[in-house]
Amino acid sequence: MIRVDNLHRHFGGFRAVDGASLEIATGSITGLVGPNGAGKSTLFNCIAGALPPTSGTVTMDGEDITGLAPHELFHKGLLRTFQIAHEFSSMTCRENLMMVPGAQSGETLWNAWFRRSAIRDQEAELLKKANEVLDFLTISHLKDERAGNLSGGQKKLLELGRTMMVDAKIVFLDEVGAGVNRTLLNTIGDAIRRLNEERGYTFCVIEHDMDFIGKLCDPVIVMAEGKVLSTGTIDEIKADERVIEAYLGT
Ligand code: ADP
Ligand code: MG
Repeated sequence: MIRVDNLHRHFGGFRAVDGASLEIATGSITGLVGPNGAGKSTLFNCIAGALPPTSGTVTMDGEDITGLAPHELFHKGLLRTFQIAHEFSSMTCRENLMMVPGAQSGETLWNAWFRRSAIRDQEAELLKKANEVLDFLTISHLKDERAGNLSGGQKKLLELGRTMMVDAKIVFLDEVGAGVNRTLLNTIGDAIRRLNEERGYTFCVIEHDMDFIGKLCDPVIVMAEGKVLSTGTIDEIKADERVIEAYLGT
């Protein structure tokens, strides 16, 4: 689905991503690991439109998507989860889901504004969808909770829920497990697996917890110093001398 070819992203003279090439197969849950500073987040930002690459190409299903803006990628079904913005922290979980741009089917909200019945229909549809998403993620009990009051892991689930409001094709998750307890990390892992199996989502997941990556991801891509070092199953990459060296070297 995604092909990254010889991607570079430099900051001044520093090569954060230094000629990375990789593929993400349709239907896979691909892991992306590597020591701190390897360039994983920068690579994600380049793929998902948050940062223009210095050079190199990104294609999605054969179409060149290099340097497209996040909202253009969003319409193609390529999403990167973002932390719930400060402005949304006082809104409830359900309201947060209903606010996802593009989640409104059909017409723009602006057009619908002039047609009250259309808006009522849309609201009912959005509400139904938001309830389904909360149910799917097993956080229905949090529907009226303000997003700002959620724990780190619950916020991650809500971020994942936002991708479900628009029927994403591929979702990029950066450090899903950071600051999340084991129980919620398992819930997040289950949600990812079910979205993959039942909804056909493709995932690319950055996470430090190798146990989590090993249970969820195949293949696993290892980055170091801005380049792809190795790709394989969790067992293959763990046995790869270059990978061991890269981790020991930091
Ligand atoms: P990872 O996610 O693998 O830990 P990052 O992609 O965040 O790595 O960072 C890779 C390198 O690029 C790091 O050395 C980081 O300091 C540097 N870097 C990231 N973003 C910027 C930036 N906006 N300006 C300068 N250097 C940056
Ligand atoms: Mg990072």
